[in-house]
Amino acid sequence: MRKLTDFRRITVKIGSALLVENGALRRAWLEALADDIKALSDAGKEVIVVSSGSIALGRGVLGWPTGQLKLEQAQAAASVGQIALAQAYTEILAERGITAGQILLTLGDTEERRRYLNARATIGTLLKMGAVPIINENDSVATSEIRYGDNDRLGARVATMASSDCLVLLSDVDGLYTAAPQKDPNAVFLPEVAMVTPKIEAMAGSAGTAYSSGGMKTKIDAAKIAQSAGTTMVITSGKTMNPLSGIDKGARATWFPAHSTPSSSRKAWISGALKPKGSLFLDEGACTALRGGSSLLPAGIRRVEGDFSRGDAVRIIDAHGVDIGRGLIAYDYTEAALIIGRNSREIEAILGYSGRSEMVHRDDLVIGAVEDEQ
Ligand code: GLU
Repeated sequence: MRKLTDFRRITVKIGSALLVENGALRRAWLEALADDIKALSDAGKEVIVVSSGSIALGRGVLGWPTGQLKLEQAQAAASVGQIALAQAYTEILAERGITAGQILLTLGDTEERRRYLNARATIGTLLKMGAVPIINENDSVATSEIRYGDNDRLGARVATMASSDCLVLLSDVDGLYTAAPQKDPNAVFLPEVAMVTPKIEAMAGSAGTAYSSGGMKTKIDAAKIAQSAGTTMVITSGKTMNPLSGIDKGARATWFPAHSTPSSSRKAWISGALKPKGSLFLDEGACTALRGGSSLLPAGIRRVEGDFSRGDAVRIIDAHGVDIGRGLIAYDYTEAALIIGRNSREIEAILGYSGRSEMVHRDDLVIGAVEDEQ
């Protein structure tokens, strides 16, 4: 049996219906969940929370307790509810000695590489400090074309962006069945889905409409994102108290095992899927440092070439002109050209702002195994 404690960095997505009832926060439930988070953190695990609930919490306050909201009403409700939601997390986690940090994302923040690097770095920094990032979609400004609209897929994007090895979807369903269990007595529960096939998608289609407003469809979409990026996903019911520790005590859950590890799929993405937009020519010292697992600093670069923006992939060329790898660059070409050969401490004086000390962070570097470019 799989356990949450087998994983290292766990992203937990929490549905609105678990957190909010009749427009009010289910505080006791959240407190129990915070106990679970504390236990994971005490066991050395990193936890990221993707929480819904802002619209559900805010709508009552604004006088729209029930019924379908127009987009602008939902956005206004989110702006009211998000404050209450963040406050609740801050207080309840602080009572357990944990610091919470709020991050509101739009679709573009997870899809565009230059913004993606920022969100990833912020999450990484919070985790390093033992803080728990509390993430939601920035519903108040995201317009319909650029919205996720559901936190299942947002949760999967956050998990893969943050190289989480596990994503837990807590909602009102306890897993995937071959058909809607309330309607079909022959519905069979599936404890594990190795791969999302068209047959699985068809099951999700019928089950989703029948028993979940969020829908099984978005959960299956989330599974596809997660599994292919090296994140194992698990769906379990959050209707009980302490649903996270419940998983390790054998609560019903459907597991979607990852097809690789987060770091190998990220490396494959950097070295294979992205077309390099330029090249960095290194000196001997930098090549040695990189082979030893270090980040690439501006000081070790002799020359830059190309037309790249922050977040683009670039070729890494050694002192003999050999292409040795790929990396995601932290600076635009014009900035990079100004700071190469210089000490990282000088970056602020040269650029006028304090940028990152690495030109390419080691997590964004792949040395060796460069695939042929088309
Ligand atoms: N972001 C929305 C909220 O906080 C929830 C979206 C969802 O439930 O999937 O209310």
